[in-house]
Amino acid sequence: MDIKDPSLAPAGHKKIDWVSAYMPVLSGIREEFRRTKPFRGLRIAMSIHLEAKTAYLATVLKDGGAEVYATGCNPLSTQDDVAAALAERGVFVFARHGVSAEEYEEHLLSVLTCHPHLMIDDGGDLTSLLHGKAQALGDCLIGGAEETTTGIHRLLAREAQGGLRFPMVDVNDADCKHLFDNRYGTGQSTFDGIMNTTNLIIAGKCVVIAGYGWCGKGAAMRAKGLGARVVVTEIDPVKAIEAAMDGFDVRPMSEAAAMGDLFITLTGCRDVIRAEHFAVMKDGALLSNAGHFDVEIDKVALEAAATRVYERKPNIMGYEMKDGRTLNLLAEGRLVNLAAGNGHPAEIMDMSFAIQAKSLEFLLSNKDTLAPRVYRVPAEIDREVATRKLCGMGLAIDTLSPEQEAYLAACE
Ligand code: NAD
Ligand code: SAH
Repeated sequence: MDIKDPSLAPAGHKKIDWVSAYMPVLSGIREEFRRTKPFRGLRIAMSIHLEAKTAYLATVLKDGGAEVYATGCNPLSTQDDVAAALAERGVFVFARHGVSAEEYEEHLLSVLTCHPHLMIDDGGDLTSLLHGKAQALGDCLIGGAEETTTGIHRLLAREAQGGLRFPMVDVNDADCKHLFDNRYGTGQSTFDGIMNTTNLIIAGKCVVIAGYGWCGKGAAMRAKGLGARVVVTEIDPVKAIEAAMDGFDVRPMSEAAAMGDLFITLTGCRDVIRAEHFAVMKDGALLSNAGHFDVEIDKVALEAAATRVYERKPNIMGYEMKDGRTLNLLAEGRLVNLAAGNGHPAEIMDMSFAIQAKSLEFLLSNKDTLAPRVYRVPAEIDREVATRKLCGMGLAIDTLSPEQEAYLAACE
């Protein structure tokens, strides 16, 4: 166990209890797991943003009979009070807010030393260790589930090279994940993080959204709703047309750089905003990332261009340029919604984590036939989660009559 301070637990318990009341799908799965105990005798390692919704998932897996070992997947998103509460709830926790790169890796290795049977990863850090220096710790591994887009890209690259060592379920591409989490979750929590951190208005600002994938669409939609003028940058011609037809101003970053008051990168790519862009930005421009890791904004180039770097406010660093302008980097260029906020809302993570829990059960039920490949989440799981969510939202839908079913299945 490695947590900051066990005495923080009471505040963490309140956070976990609050969110769990808004996660009916996961709560339904919890009841089921309490009865069926699918993970009895098994060890589960997880590396995922260690905040209240994740803590609730960890306890649901524990209720399913597992011994759970948890760490974060980002040095800044761990909440120390939640980590303390989770430890009190019987999960082995290795996570502290603001750890160094070395400590972060030590925590990943610590959760793997349990020799897990199942694994939950977000961004691919556990997977990478299990293919490198910690290969030996994967000797009991049945498989794992990956939460996010960039993690999936890396898994697919590993699979294509023939190097994947165990089955992985692609949670991100389940409909009940990316359609809601990446779009509406990122859309809301990104602005939540930015507005709380800066205490500035969005209305009337020019907001530059880099990347018009699922996350970018959500952020652009919410920026527009808050009254911003929105500029979108893309590298994919189809996505660029989509953004234009959704009513956004599409431009290359070389033009957008001089226009933006607030920049948000959501691409999964590196160096999306770099030296030539910093050179033409407005004084006071706000720079943030809600994509992956801290490489979308070239922090090294930003630092090199600055004559002074100083903290302006918690989670905001000012970079004073030679010509007197100051550019403001939020949350060290790490995911602004999690490093400077609470991440996606409970109702969203309810679906993402229901998919996670069911994916682990899927791995277990099919362990004798699965190969070291990346598997899509079975359509029945997506449907089951959607049906339970609708019920939780108090919504009903229509059912096809036999005549309608026959009509839809007919050749002519
Ligand atoms: P996506 O593949 O749907 O979209 C990414 C988009 O970025 C694509 O349209 C791509 O063409 C575009 N792009 C790539 N490089 C670019 C560049 N240099 N300039 C401009 N556009 C570029 O992926 P997504 O699901 O939207 O995820 C985006 C990133 O956000 C991933 O790294 C993912 O892991 C991460 N993510 C973050 C959160 C969060 O909570 N902050 C949630 C979900 C996903
Ligand atoms: N480790 C990488 C991974 C990107 S995280 C990094 O920190 O840069 C992106 C993932 O975070 C999304 O797929 C989303 O499902 C997850 N996420 C968003 N809000 C969350 C929350 N409140 N709790 C746990 N995970 C969350």
